[in-house]
Amino acid sequence: MITMRRLVSLLVVLSAGCAPEKPAAAPRPSILLVTLDTTRADAVGPDTPQLTALAKNARRFTQAYAAVPQTLPSHGSMFTGLYPAGHGVHENGRYFAPTVPLLAEKLKQQGYETAAFVSAFALARRFGLARGFDVYDDDFGADRAERPANETTDRAIAWLRKQPSAPRFLWVHYYDPHYPYTPPPPFRERFATNPYLGEVAFMDQQLGRLLQAFGGAAVIVVADHGEGLGEHGEPQHGNLLYQSTVHVPFFVRGPGVTSGSVDAPVSTRHVFDMVVAWSAGETPAIAGEVVVGEAMKPFLDYGWQPQVMAVEGRLKTISAGRIEIYDVAADPAETHDLNGRTDISRPVRAALQEYPIPSTAEAAAPASADSEEERRKLASLGYVASTTKPVVRKDAPRPADMARLFPILDQAAGLFVRDEYAASIPLFEKIVAADPFNLDAALHLATAHSTLGHDAKAVEAYKRAQAIAPDSADVRTYFGLHYARTKEWEKAVPLLERVVADDPDRLPALEGLALVRERQGRIADAIQLRRRVFTMRTPTAAELAHLGDLAMRTGDTATAIASFEKSPGHDLELGVLYLAARRFEEARDALDRVPPSHPEYPMALFKRAQVSVLLHEPDAAARIAAARSRATPLTRELIARERLFR
Ligand SMILES: [Zn+2]
Repeated sequence: MITMRRLVSLLVVLSAGCAPEKPAAAPRPSILLVTLDTTRADAVGPDTPQLTALAKNARRFTQAYAAVPQTLPSHGSMFTGLYPAGHGVHENGRYFAPTVPLLAEKLKQQGYETAAFVSAFALARRFGLARGFDVYDDDFGADRAERPANETTDRAIAWLRKQPSAPRFLWVHYYDPHYPYTPPPPFRERFATNPYLGEVAFMDQQLGRLLQAFGGAAVIVVADHGEGLGEHGEPQHGNLLYQSTVHVPFFVRGPGVTSGSVDAPVSTRHVFDMVVAWSAGETPAIAGEVVVGEAMKPFLDYGWQPQVMAVEGRLKTISAGRIEIYDVAADPAETHDLNGRTDISRPVRAALQEYPIPSTAEAAAPASADSEEERRKLASLGYVASTTKPVVRKDAPRPADMARLFPILDQAAGLFVRDEYAASIPLFEKIVAADPFNLDAALHLATAHSTLGHDAKAVEAYKRAQAIAPDSADVRTYFGLHYARTKEWEKAVPLLERVVADDPDRLPALEGLALVRERQGRIADAIQLRRRVFTMRTPTAAELAHLGDLAMRTGDTATAIASFEKSPGHDLELGVLYLAARRFEEARDALDRVPPSHPEYPMALFKRAQVSVLLHEPDAAARIAAARSRATPLTRELIARERLFR
């Protein structure tokens, strides 16, 4: 276990590696930061003339490393200067806490105009990176989760054409090389045998337009991570720490930065320090350090070994259940493990040992009304984060040994999120067979059976999940929801109640229990639970109307009024309720809003006539007559019995 004190000291050490050199008082330049998604270091070459030309006049870091081989956490490190242990985001679909200071906020404080143009939902505003930007353009168009580089470039150039009133900080993110590889013509034809490079070449062409339009002095071009392309069994990225996904291009051109190659390892988190130094009129400088990186997705999602790497000089050490050491200069493909043949230096050993392993509690999905839509959009980009707290154990598999499962895991989770349960079942069965402690897969398998009405198979699968993790709140929640679905209230209630008792904020369990209580006829309990749910997420208008109906049934007038007031189209209900609460003016106004097309308009006329009498309106008699003339059998009887009308 890492103590808090050690964690703090580590973060201090890690962030002390780079400090601006003073004094160097240069004018404050406009700054362009371009992040290239999914771009391997070795993708820069003859097919990327723009990058190659930029690199010629820039400082080229030949051993640059992403802090994490995944989009959001990697950008998080560039925007905070911190490793994920410091900024708290280890995988896509999580959120930056509002207390984490971000690069654009710093530049805003320095008087900069700030704008961001991102190209994929993984970096959408809602994940927290937009803080400090005057403009944060994450508009991908209806039903799209990404946009091509030409569209993003058009928008960035339109912003650049506006008259500046201060130095500018512009961040442009390109997403094209991300899977699937579908470059537009003529790159499609020219790179028919290597469409990945075709995407990089197209992006490079658009980068050229952007650089020309920017014209400013300070430019950083860097990738957020690379792409496996099958190396070490990894088709894409995010699950392993090999060079194919963590070694990235990193070019810096600007005031005080001399051109030429730097072969010492450097973390891309220093983008933060460089931009901050320029914005203060100083010269960016990076001191040598042991570069650290992590890939925690397999740990947080499946409970596999946490993975940390440390690079010093040309030696890269990966700790993931056991130690691997590679000479990345002589062996960039990392095929010769030097462990046992070379010593690990003390700084590397310390960096690996002290790197904080995140809490698996972070694997629980954030509670949000948008989370379902978020998960679908992320899944459409190939990112599915787990919603289950994994089973952690000492003898957990090493991710590198499980690489054959990566495509199956991604495919199964993608099918599940798209509601293709039947197709997902054989895949989840394969995963559970290969990795019996994979609680996430076991629960998805059970839930797929439950959703399809395979009740016996579902119960069997939930019991298997229970055997893997007897104390798991996730298992209790989904098992309870299954019994709610099959109307076995007496089995659903103890499971869901236990979850809510242990964790009163657990939204799915609260919602499940509310539904069960309503079906059992325990309406007051259902109302109380629903009200708690709606303090945690924004209810839809239909949900509010339903709560209003429930409250009317129990005579809870105050709750009913509060619910219908926020749910348009319920003026009749509101009129009746205001009348019951003797709020006659409000009753009159609500009933006057009921349109004649309303199916219960005769009831509205009857209630309006009552209000008219109670308010001593001069036309009360005419209103009673109107109610009579439009009466239904029900309202005719009510009118006949109404003493106010005598
Ligand atoms: Zn990315």
